[in-house]
Amino acid sequence: MALGAPFHLTVLYRGPLSSCNYGCPYCPFAKHRETPEEHEADRAALERFVAWVESQPFDVSVLFTPWGEALIWPRYQHAITRLSRLPHVRQVAIQTNLSGPLGWLRDADLGKVGLWATYHPGEVSRERFLKRCAELDAMGVRYSVGVVGVPDQLPEIQAVRDALNPATYLWVNAFTGGRPYTRAERAALTHIDPLFEVNTRRYRSRGYACQAGETVISVDGDGAARRCHFISTPLGNIYAQDVRELLAPRPCTRVTCHCHIGYVHMPDLDAGAVYGDGLLARIPEGPEWVAPGAYLERARQLWRGGRLTGL
Ligand code: SF4
Ligand code: SF4
Repeated sequence: MALGAPFHLTVLYRGPLSSCNYGCPYCPFAKHRETPEEHEADRAALERFVAWVESQPFDVSVLFTPWGEALIWPRYQHAITRLSRLPHVRQVAIQTNLSGPLGWLRDADLGKVGLWATYHPGEVSRERFLKRCAELDAMGVRYSVGVVGVPDQLPEIQAVRDALNPATYLWVNAFTGGRPYTRAERAALTHIDPLFEVNTRRYRSRGYACQAGETVISVDGDGAARRCHFISTPLGNIYAQDVRELLAPRPCTRVTCHCHIGYVHMPDLDAGAVYGDGLLARIPEGPEWVAPGAYLERARQLWRGGRLTGL
């Protein structure tokens, strides 16, 4: 892109952190506590990244997508607070299990902070998780709550939905590790999350436009920039060059895209119409959220790959 053009870049940051205080049986980061060396490497990488954001002459939004739980650590709490207070940062969001302290949020610009909070029923009681959500409500923090749609856990998913603040969006990720959903399960999950269907299929993405690599990038702790978390080829390094030199419109090179943090950047899906400023934290705030039918139809068209010939 041309240097100097008005610009807003979204960065998905994933540093070296790979540890978690929870023990989810399906997760490689479960119960791994970081060593002092790992702590220092992640701290230094995070500090460098935040300083980089501070120095950029254009608007930036950040989504932290750690491999593990980062928000239990003061360094991430400070980083989000610091970023939220920068005039040129529009949004800063993080994926979290919501187990860490929350009082630090009072120092952040809450108009810019969004939490992507996942409920892990085997790791925390429903009561304790809901108490954390109530604390967020009391502080006026924007957040979404999410669960994995494991069929056996449908009663628990329904129970947490029923107990949550009705204004809080509960997203359900499709569970891909088991048998197909029955029609009744699918209906129940769609009743809980009106956008559930959007997450149930892989998107045919190869050859299709995606803003990843143009207005959205993924950055690791060393500064290597990739267009997204799912295409490993680096575009360059944000610490070695002006990041805008790395950005260009590019069709997707993967056969499919199946993760929310990826497919929402496909312009034909127009996820912004549903999520608005809440896109990074998965909080529907856009005008289409009141009637998301057009969004579902756009998703179905993308699954079919119906807009391009020869796929
Ligand atoms: S909370 Fe998340 S990162 Fe931690 S063990 Fe569970 S799935 Fe893994
Ligand atoms: S469609 Fe998905 S895999 Fe392809 S570039 Fe976009 S985010 Fe990456």
